[in-house]
Amino acid sequence: MSARHYDVIVIGGGHAGCEAAAAAARMGVSTALFTINLDMIGQMSCNPAIGGIAKGHLVREIDALGGIMGRQADLTGIQFRLLNRSRGPAVQAPRCQSDKERYRIEMQKTLRGIPSLDLVEGEVTAILRQKERVVGIEVAGGEKVSCRCVILTTGTFLNGVCHVGGQQFRAGRSGERAAVKLADSVREIGFEVGRLKTGTPPRLERASIDFGRFPVQPGDDDPTFFSFRTRETALPQIDCWIAYTNQRVHDLIRENADRSPLLGGTLTALGPRYCPSIEDKIRRFADRSQHQLFLEPEGIDSPLVYVNGFSTSMPVDIQKEMVASIEGLEEASMVRPGYAVEYDFVQPRQLRSTLETRRVGGLYHAGQINGTTGYEEAAAQGLMAGANAALAVQDRGPLILARDESYIGILIDDLVTRGVDEPYRMFTSRAEYRLLLRIDNADRRLAAHGHVLGLISDQEMGQVESKWERIEAAVGFLESSHLQRESGCFPALQERFQAQAGLNLAQLVRRPECTLNDLAGILDEGGVELMDGEAEVVETEVKYQGYIRQQERDVERVRKMEGRRIPGDFDFAAVEGLSGEMRERFGRVRPESLGQASRIPGVTPAAVSILNIHLTLNERRNA
Ligand code: FAD
Repeated sequence: MSARHYDVIVIGGGHAGCEAAAAAARMGVSTALFTINLDMIGQMSCNPAIGGIAKGHLVREIDALGGIMGRQADLTGIQFRLLNRSRGPAVQAPRCQSDKERYRIEMQKTLRGIPSLDLVEGEVTAILRQKERVVGIEVAGGEKVSCRCVILTTGTFLNGVCHVGGQQFRAGRSGERAAVKLADSVREIGFEVGRLKTGTPPRLERASIDFGRFPVQPGDDDPTFFSFRTRETALPQIDCWIAYTNQRVHDLIRENADRSPLLGGTLTALGPRYCPSIEDKIRRFADRSQHQLFLEPEGIDSPLVYVNGFSTSMPVDIQKEMVASIEGLEEASMVRPGYAVEYDFVQPRQLRSTLETRRVGGLYHAGQINGTTGYEEAAAQGLMAGANAALAVQDRGPLILARDESYIGILIDDLVTRGVDEPYRMFTSRAEYRLLLRIDNADRRLAAHGHVLGLISDQEMGQVESKWERIEAAVGFLESSHLQRESGCFPALQERFQAQAGLNLAQLVRRPECTLNDLAGILDEGGVELMDGEAEVVETEVKYQGYIRQQERDVERVRKMEGRRIPGDFDFAAVEGLSGEMRERFGRVRPESLGQASRIPGVTPAAVSILNIHLTLNERRNA
């Protein structure tokens, strides 16, 4: 081995790698990030956007834990929208259009500013082990670098193959070579590996588009940010546009199906179900005469426009015709064609809840390599793998987030318990307690964990605590106060809501037509102080209190089962009364708690109950 040694080595500079490296290094352990091309650190491989439904929740949580994605997204956002604004608070989520190049540059600047983090250009070709522990990596050219932990975040690069029409070429993504030797090293370790695919749409030249022919999609006037530290936008804001496919586009795809790798059958790996290619949409929804598209500039001064919803791997000549068949794009020039990429993923059932592999101690996997899709899912895993690797180096206990406290906990629990057979993306419907996991309370749920890790400063923690003291004081005031005839606001409230003197203020807020804004005068009279954005949180806490309390009671009940830990060396085969099938299912996943055991697909309540009895007997025996 070379003289170089690090506590933690991160392989990959994508969204998972950036978070992993930042977390580990900021926690004070010596860290290196190895990546094929330093200039591409923080690259958005596909859409120029961060967030969206459930993904926006993940970014808020990353920020609350002290991760970096939220801040970078706010700094480089060129259009902010709160999605699901007209629906309940549990499913509202922020999304921003990003300046792609600035995002990458800001990310690189942030990483370069972290002491104890080295950024190293080089293709990693092997993971080095001794017995069942990682001891280092080998880089192309033969250098070996030793370390205590490795975090593998290679995205779509392991054995990546790109497809455009009949053409196939080895690449991790367009223009960057695939990681073939590292893929062999991963297989040699003995991991169960599968194949998945994803795709991207063509990019058009901005100056060649007749934007006047498309309806405008503007951003919000009052932007919703990802980071609880951001107060204002940093860049000028832009519009996007809405477009539609038409029958001619669909006919072109059908007429040339034999030249499509997807329809022709040369590309068989499963792709993201909820972000399908246009070929897939036309096959699955054959009766639809049009599909919605969005024209999204890739930056303030970028010459490129991303055609969201038009992901394709049709041959280049057909892609050009498809574009030109859309009204308003007749003269559009296609700068880059769309393509699909097929890659190896490592079945995440082989991971512990810390994202450490069971097979090799000190080796962690995070991001698309675990079968997920999306920048936000990757970043969330990167942060958790980076934090847990640093905690292991520091000989501290792991950080495992529960399903009832975060979407990040749900993401990791789903991956390690259920595994992946198609690209996994986050949805709010995956959460059992959506009302507890809102974007507006991510800091209350998670900042304390970030503080313990050392990723949230004392000052930031103090700000979070003060914010929630103000919110709780306001809720308490509304709960305990009643409408007074003497109040200056009484006549208006009586007229608008037929409110009577003596009515409890919280009950008034719970009326569907009433908002906290209507009671602003009373809050002032009561000396209640709230800062920007806090009134909405108070309103949600009061309006939905009944449901929130119900979910909290459900959490308490389930926590008892969740809290029952299963020892790492537990012998599932020795549990009397379990069927062979149940033993096999438990043995394959090796759940770490009774709660996790209950979520393994195919496991019956009876089997969980037998396991529970066995654990109780074991505990009594050992007491
Ligand atoms: P990546 O961002 O891919 O980063 C991997 C990093 O590992 C890179 O920096 C690479 O240089 C480095 N690396 C790889 N091998 C080595 C090696 N041997 N040595 C050193 N460094 C190495 N997501 C969606 O949600 N929707 C989509 O529609 C979508 N479409 C996509 C289309 C394409 C063509 C691609 C490529 C990706 C698409 N994605 C999409 C996925 C999205 O880009 C990923 O989910 C996200 O980037 C994953 O982050 P990551 O950190 O795991 O990997």
